[in-house]
Amino acid sequence: MDNCARIQIELMDILSVGETSLSAELDEHLRSCVRCQLKWIEMQLVWQRLGTLRQQEVPASAAQTLRAQILTDLEVVAGNRKRVQARRSALFSILVGVLFSVASAWIVQRDARLSAFAPPTLLSVGALWNALYVGVALVVVRYKKLPLGITASWAALGGLIAMGLFLGLCASCSMNHLLEYCRTSAWVNTAFDNPRDEALYFAVSGLYSSLPVFLAAFVTQIRTRSGPVVFGVGVAGLFLLLRLPGGLLRCASLPLELAASSCVGAIFGASVGGVAGASLRATIAR
Ligand SMILES: [Zn+2]
Repeated sequence: MDNCARIQIELMDILSVGETSLSAELDEHLRSCVRCQLKWIEMQLVWQRLGTLRQQEVPASAAQTLRAQILTDLEVVAGNRKRVQARRSALFSILVGVLFSVASAWIVQRDARLSAFAPPTLLSVGALWNALYVGVALVVVRYKKLPLGITASWAALGGLIAMGLFLGLCASCSMNHLLEYCRTSAWVNTAFDNPRDEALYFAVSGLYSSLPVFLAAFVTQIRTRSGPVVFGVGVAGLFLLLRLPGGLLRCASLPLELAASSCVGAIFGASVGGVAGASLRATIAR
């Protein structure tokens, strides 16, 4: 704050307490500074004017009108803010949806034989997938509006994080690679006594679900009334929902027993991972 600003604040203080004499410092500054001198005259005039205003009776209707006007203005401001927030969360959700959809499509085209599907089918699945991502992202940003409140928001965030980790896992080592490795690996065959394909699909699919969901539930678990088991199942459910379109495309090219083993493995792995992650976090936090 420069000197003039400080002087002007002091002058205002003097007016407000009703003092009449100025200190030597203020007096000296006013003599030497035209700007503050003008300000001081203006302040005194405004103060006098305020004094006369206060003495006049304000008509009740005028007060009412003013009150209504202020309320309307406040409503407009609140409405605008709400609209801006809604637009921002919609934009955010769409961005998240597009990013996840592109990543998912890239992963799924590496693992599943997409040439077996007609283009309209692929487009519909893609649209459904995108809608799911946008929906879950909206739950993350608009939690206050939801009946389940903050728990739903954190569970949705957990689902998105789990899906991100799952995509990362698939990008670094696809499920097909791991399955192929398990089939041919000598130590797996010795340790598990030549496991059947169904068992391998169950185990690999379960592993690819449980690890991401475990980490995501661990990271997002917060103390809510629902408790870690419900929260963990919530994260697992949202993750499975987001995985569903890709899982369908993948399973469609598999024999029925393997597709079923894979699905059961994913559901089992995600549930166990979610509950374990959330419970572990709750135990540590206690
Ligand atoms: Zn000055």
